[in-house]
Amino acid sequence: MKEPVMELTETDIRYEFPVLRSYPDMVYLDSGATTQKPESVLRRIDRYYRLENANVHRGIHALGEAATEAYEGSRDRVFKFINASRREEIVFTGGTTDAINLVASGFRESLLKPGKKILLSGMEHHANLVPWQLAAQRSGAELDFIPVSDDGSLELEDLEARLNNKVAIVALTQVSNVLGTVNPIDRIIDTAHSMGIPVLIDAAQSISRIPVDVQQLKADFLVFSGHKVYGPTGTGVLYGREEWLDRLPPYRGGGDMIDTVDLHTSTWNTLPYKFEAGTPNISGAAGLGAALEWLDRRDVRRVGEHEELLTEILRSRLEELSWIKMLPAPEGARTGLVSFTIDGIHHYDAAQVLDKKGFALRSGHHCAQPLHRRFGLEGSLRASFGAYNRESEIDRLLDALHDTRRFLS
Ligand code: PLP
Repeated sequence: MKEPVMELTETDIRYEFPVLRSYPDMVYLDSGATTQKPESVLRRIDRYYRLENANVHRGIHALGEAATEAYEGSRDRVFKFINASRREEIVFTGGTTDAINLVASGFRESLLKPGKKILLSGMEHHANLVPWQLAAQRSGAELDFIPVSDDGSLELEDLEARLNNKVAIVALTQVSNVLGTVNPIDRIIDTAHSMGIPVLIDAAQSISRIPVDVQQLKADFLVFSGHKVYGPTGTGVLYGREEWLDRLPPYRGGGDMIDTVDLHTSTWNTLPYKFEAGTPNISGAAGLGAALEWLDRRDVRRVGEHEELLTEILRSRLEELSWIKMLPAPEGARTGLVSFTIDGIHHYDAAQVLDKKGFALRSGHHCAQPLHRRFGLEGSLRASFGAYNRESEIDRLLDALHDTRRFLS
């Protein structure tokens, strides 16, 4: 087996994370839910409140300028990180869920109607399903789904037949948060575009693992959460191609998103401010910028390779155990996480016993009930990796799984 490619001394990287430093014996395998935060992110947030605290885009005073610089500087960082063509295409949101709701609500108001379809897949997180359900119910449009095949990949054979002039938008995850499947989104985007259909990519699970270049992908919308990419909770990004953001109506009304306001009507600010009503999460944006800077230093490609390798090691180790069933993920197109069940043992009980032994794993449906049902399950255990995990933790997990089984059988 190859050794992880990152040339970091593993102790060093963990040392950057106060939570991992505080609990040196804990094995944190829940980065798919949220990553731990490095010191540089915490320090950046702290600096804003200590030295730069003011509102943005308002004060003609030094603090106001520092706050605006912190906020807009982070927008520049995001813009470069995903290689957008214009910084106006980067909208700060409260997270992936918030960003998808923004797009779904905009589509509902302006582009969806009876006879139109929204094409999703059978492996979406509830965040990329429920907002579209609401949009469909309220507009009269219909939902359609690309099915998930037995090997955990998307069934794309009849994609072209599904894509027709009724489809108003395709919204898909790049990496499944349950299977770890990496979907061929470039191919899907090309096919959708050949029929003039826009595509939204849910990059919540991919942004910390796969270099994302929105221009190369030709994504129309791409969304992610700060807290899954080593940044703070309550932050997120909606990237939208300018022509699409221009077409969507504002999502929330209030200060900052307007140009002129009359008692009865208003006109809207330019992009991206049209979608950023009210005082934004300035400290959060600053922290998100610091997180992307941290990941740039570590190199997202190398972090992704490291996590992919850990994923393969864990899968091969679990494969040897007849009493463990892994959820499928296609070989050569999976990363970051492994979901599994233990014969005769409820995932919740197993997670509790593992927790007592110092292992943080997710148990439940991971906000993807339809996908679990697709495989005849109500839930599973999920081990998901971050840049700080190491192979030795997989050895410890395997020992702990044997003990857990003995204890609960
Ligand atoms: N999409 C995917 C694939 C996810 O894994 C998650 C969170 O687990 C989300 C969307 C929702 O992210 P958030 O809760 O940060 O809005």
